[in-house]
Amino acid sequence: MTQERPRFSIVAPAYNEEEVLPEFYRRVRDVMDALGEPWELILINDGSRDNTLAVMRELHEKDPRVKIISFSRNFGHQLAITAGLDYAQGNAVVIIDADLQDPPEVIPELIEKWREGYDVVYAVRKERRGESWFKEWTAKLFYRLIYRITDVDIPKDTGDFRLMDRKVVETLRTLRERNRFMRGLSVWVGFKQTGVYYVREPRFAGETKYPFRKMLKFALDAITSFSYVPLQLATYFGFAIAGVSMVGMVVVVILRLTTGRALLGQATTLVAVLFLGGIQLIFLGIIGEYLGRIYDEVKARPLYIVAETLGFDEEEQKPRVRTVEPVQER
Ligand code: UDP
Ligand code: MG
Repeated sequence: MTQERPRFSIVAPAYNEEEVLPEFYRRVRDVMDALGEPWELILINDGSRDNTLAVMRELHEKDPRVKIISFSRNFGHQLAITAGLDYAQGNAVVIIDADLQDPPEVIPELIEKWREGYDVVYAVRKERRGESWFKEWTAKLFYRLIYRITDVDIPKDTGDFRLMDRKVVETLRTLRERNRFMRGLSVWVGFKQTGVYYVREPRFAGETKYPFRKMLKFALDAITSFSYVPLQLATYFGFAIAGVSMVGMVVVVILRLTTGRALLGQATTLVAVLFLGGIQLIFLGIIGEYLGRIYDEVKARPLYIVAETLGFDEEEQKPRVRTVEPVQER
């Protein structure tokens, strides 16, 4: 079945979002239909354990503009987005969360800016609703830290909710790094960028798929892929501690020569040794974070494995990263 080539692609990753998807589809459809141009909605099933895939299939049956990429297991939010970008056909591609925290009604504003000539239009949260103070506080801290220690000016308080021009998407497709921080990469590529403010709503249903463990991994991925500052810290600490101990040595010698007394204290020694031991272990750990990621890259495994796709035009839309060819007969 050949369809009209979509002008807009909406990319939404979903992991266990069965309760949200029908409402999400309805709101996206209403917004996009009002624009009066062909569009596609690419849903990525990131190895959900609930009925997400079945719900997606139903939506596709009803509306062939809904297309599905289903992963063989959970590969994570950032890789789900990556797959969506790999398959998207539109001249402008919008990344949006499926849980309706990013209101689809903001999409026309993003498109408006795109029409004005911007290539990346990111949505900035001016307010977050219905999230725990812990999430809000850690997120704030994270965005400020990232902003300070990286060379790319990743705008504060922006998630993955953004619109990207086709040429930006094509550029992003050439970046195949593994531990990816998409919102950093989409700034790193350059082009004309701007922001639009919006209010982040509470989740429509279900609960966050980002427990603390995943948040931490996400933060470490972001920092390690855009900054060497943590590695350089070891050098600064080294110089500082060496400097202090140098002064200490002189003081000890002078005290000994002038007063004839040596400094006493096992406790002091113990504290100093433990302190240094701790610092060294921390930096070993930091090196480990980078080393593990280098190892990941060297292995060069595919970023994600697609178990099946639905709704894509095989001729025109040859998937770029097809890793599993389904067996016809068993
Ligand atoms: N998500 C995903 N794979 C994951 C975790 C999350 O595809 O492993 C999706 C999720 O279904 C949602 C989006 O990524 O559409 C954002 O996740 P979530 O809302 O749980 O994160 P939060 O908004 O709480 O930071
Ligand atoms: Mg959410």
